[in-house]
Amino acid sequence: MVEELESGIRRVTFKLPFGIDHVHCYFLRSSSGGWILVDTGLGSRAPEALWRPVLDELDAPVERIVVTHMHPDHVGGAADVAGITGAPVLQGREDYAQCVQAWGKRDPERFVAYWAGHGMPESHVQGIAQESDRLVSAVHWVRDPELLDPGDEIDGWRVEVLRGHSDGHIVLLRDGVLIAGDVILSGITPAIGLYPNSRPDPLADYFETLDRIEELAPRIAYAGHKEPVTDPAGRAREIRAHHVERLDHAAAALDGTPLSAYEVSLSLFGSELSTTLRRFATAEALAHLERLVHEGRAERAGSGYLKPGI
Ligand SMILES: [Zn+2]
Repeated sequence: MVEELESGIRRVTFKLPFGIDHVHCYFLRSSSGGWILVDTGLGSRAPEALWRPVLDELDAPVERIVVTHMHPDHVGGAADVAGITGAPVLQGREDYAQCVQAWGKRDPERFVAYWAGHGMPESHVQGIAQESDRLVSAVHWVRDPELLDPGDEIDGWRVEVLRGHSDGHIVLLRDGVLIAGDVILSGITPAIGLYPNSRPDPLADYFETLDRIEELAPRIAYAGHKEPVTDPAGRAREIRAHHVERLDHAAAALDGTPLSAYEVSLSLFGSELSTTLRRFATAEALAHLERLVHEGRAERAGSGYLKPGI
């Protein structure tokens, strides 16, 4: 189950029941000969059965657990694997605050009102509410982890905050290797969405992240999903071009009548999407519309958006 990617870096992959069908977690060899686990998959009803065979394949104990960001498929198993290994959990300071907000102070009514307010039809809104109830039971996050700030080091791995996919997403960098979480992916683009309580312009944040990846130009990025990214700087350029094109597409969809983010998502992503994917599509449309507002290429009108100057 555990694959060695290069000396001192191993990977385990778990199946996911929704969206992308898998998630990768990484083991980094520590200076004392143990392992640092990065990311934890979804929380499980049978953590011992899930993790024991994985841990048994390692030649040394897991000493620390690092969470890149608070999305369910990354933080979800943190308490499970911490309970089994006794290892402390380390999480970005800002990401942990968001984690508490999202999973500890859940406000289902406000969450539902958010999507309805952005034009989602009732059937999808109900689906989102049910899905969010299901999801919360698979998020076994840990209270009061050790908090990480940009510039901190974990056994020679430098912590950076690279925003956009989530507000306080952290990555680890050492000797040209980026343990990337979901900031950069092969084959698919990381979801960039605007959510309740998130920073106001996530796409602008993400453009900064892409600049930073180009500047760092790591040799390889090991990400949360799909294949490793073998030319992260080149991939960052491709993803930037993709969002620039999508911004143009979103701008072209607007006219003199206000459109909701949901309506714009139909134009960007088509009308045939599951509830899960429609939620991502609407959040992604919102992120692009808000960027257009900041660029002066769209105007807010109530909860919708229109082309300026018509
Ligand atoms: Zn993920």
